[in-house]
Amino acid sequence: MKIVPIGIWGGYPKANSATSSFLLEHEGFHCLIDCGSGVLSSLQNYLPLEKLDAVVISHYHADHIADIGSLQYSRLINYYLGKPLKPLPIYGHQEDPENFGKLSYKEQTIGIPISKEETIQIGPFDVSFCETKHPVYCLAMKFQTTDHSIVLTADTEWQEELVEFARDADILISEANLYEEHVGKAPGHMGGSEAGNLAHLANVKQLILTHLPLHGNIEEILQAAKVHYDGSAELAEVGKEYVL
Ligand SMILES: [Zn+2]
Repeated sequence: MKIVPIGIWGGYPKANSATSSFLLEHEGFHCLIDCGSGVLSSLQNYLPLEKLDAVVISHYHADHIADIGSLQYSRLINYYLGKPLKPLPIYGHQEDPENFGKLSYKEQTIGIPISKEETIQIGPFDVSFCETKHPVYCLAMKFQTTDHSIVLTADTEWQEELVEFARDADILISEANLYEEHVGKAPGHMGGSEAGNLAHLANVKQLILTHLPLHGNIEEILQAAKVHYDGSAELAEVGKEYVL
């Protein structure tokens, strides 16, 4: 199992970069996790778009879905060029029916429902979900193979249930959108200290921080995480391959 950060920013991307997104690969199956602003551009550095097998969307904020439309156009253009691809499954929750409906487009992409109640099979992965605390309905995700597990918090403020959900994961990819002075004051997001505490309490083997703020010195967020977690912790680095 291999996971590659495609973008690391929360809200909107820095120049020539992308909002928080990850490409997960196992046994030749490629799954994109979230598809916000800049993701379609960045992704092409690591995978031809036609090799994408699935997309999973955590929630319908723009920094997680902004490039879905362009992804759908890329499939439609292939179709017009006489190189049709099979419909791409895009997994998302149905708590927001209008946005869920937009995941299906002209038989190029098909929206498939996910929920916190159900573990589903996506390619070689068993995937389960946990509701987070965010201004809109949002799902954290756990991708498991027989040997390994990767948990992504998606967007959330401190959510106690994530401790059990992330228990003993090989990699925890946690959002860490806040500097410490804003922790507890900005709804829907965590600071580095909370991400570190989650990694510690869940006993994960590795912590990767993402959904980072564009202002300030993001190294401070990593340092705040390391106060609480003494395992391997780093800021997500675009293009780096994390292999299990
Ligand atoms: Zn969000």
